[in-house]
Amino acid sequence: MRCRVCGKKAVYKELGFCSEHFSSYFEKNVADVLNKPFFKEKSLLLAVSGGKDSSAMMFAVSKILSEKRLDFNIKRIESLYINLGIKDNSSYNENLVKQLSEKTGIKLNTINLEEFYNLTIDDLSQKTGKICSSCAVIKRYLLNKFAYENGFDFVLIGHNLDDELFFAIHNLVNRNIDFLVRSAKILPKDEEKRLAGRVKPLYYLTEKESMLYCIINKIPFSTQGCPYAVKNLQMTEKSKQSVLFDSRNKKLSFIKSINKLKKFYPLKKEDNVEPCIRCGFPTTSKICKFCRIIEKAKEN
Ligand code: SF4
Ligand code: ZN
Ligand code: ZN
Repeated sequence: MRCRVCGKKAVYKELGFCSEHFSSYFEKNVADVLNKPFFKEKSLLLAVSGGKDSSAMMFAVSKILSEKRLDFNIKRIESLYINLGIKDNSSYNENLVKQLSEKTGIKLNTINLEEFYNLTIDDLSQKTGKICSSCAVIKRYLLNKFAYENGFDFVLIGHNLDDELFFAIHNLVNRNIDFLVRSAKILPKDEEKRLAGRVKPLYYLTEKESMLYCIINKIPFSTQGCPYAVKNLQMTEKSKQSVLFDSRNKKLSFIKSINKLKKFYPLKKEDNVEPCIRCGFPTTSKICKFCRIIEKAKEN
């Protein structure tokens, strides 16, 4: 098969692109998400984990900015890695994101869970069966806290089209329509609630495409995966999902249809959101989930 743009050998057969035109396609999709006037002169924080998605995102964003492909300037861009204290995994990934930071020239910040909170995901996994849900709360909380306290307007996450598809199906099956409607490509900043905005630059790109982009561009990324991922519902559901949604177009069409339907469902205002009595960040109960996890870990 030949590239549909230049006629060279295609490396991405699904859409018919050679390596050069596949990279252009990938970067265009990322740039299209970011080329919105409300990002003008804003400070952006890239959430990096060492995995293929966030690594591909960081590399593509750095390229887009260095080649001035947006219609405006952004104020500042940095990255954040959270060392979760997972044996044989977290330090290895930290080393990879350091290499990526050197390659892209984007400053890397790190938070070490053990140093800051005397807690590791390994310790926590001994005490709780649902480690991934606690881990997700920790990551989301720390990303927002770091962004808010350091003046970043938006956190950019490596959430891709397959992730969006999983969340859409999962929320439909569980009748969590409010969650489904709230999930968006771009969530605005809410200064009053101490919430940085959230952006998904890989919203239109699949996992397979992130992987290929990393390989083509020699981007350092981890292939070993988290040891807790086998217990992760998302991993098992995604492999079943890929049978029904066996092309990028089917995935995209489904998400676009869901987004059209979302417009007919009024977004309920979250009236019961209040500052956590321990840390001041928003919560729907008196003490936020993050503070509860930290307190529980200290008790044992
Ligand atoms: Fe955390 Fe689970 Fe992801 Fe591992 S697989 S990083 S424990 S959410
Ligand atoms: Zn080509
Ligand atoms: Zn709290």
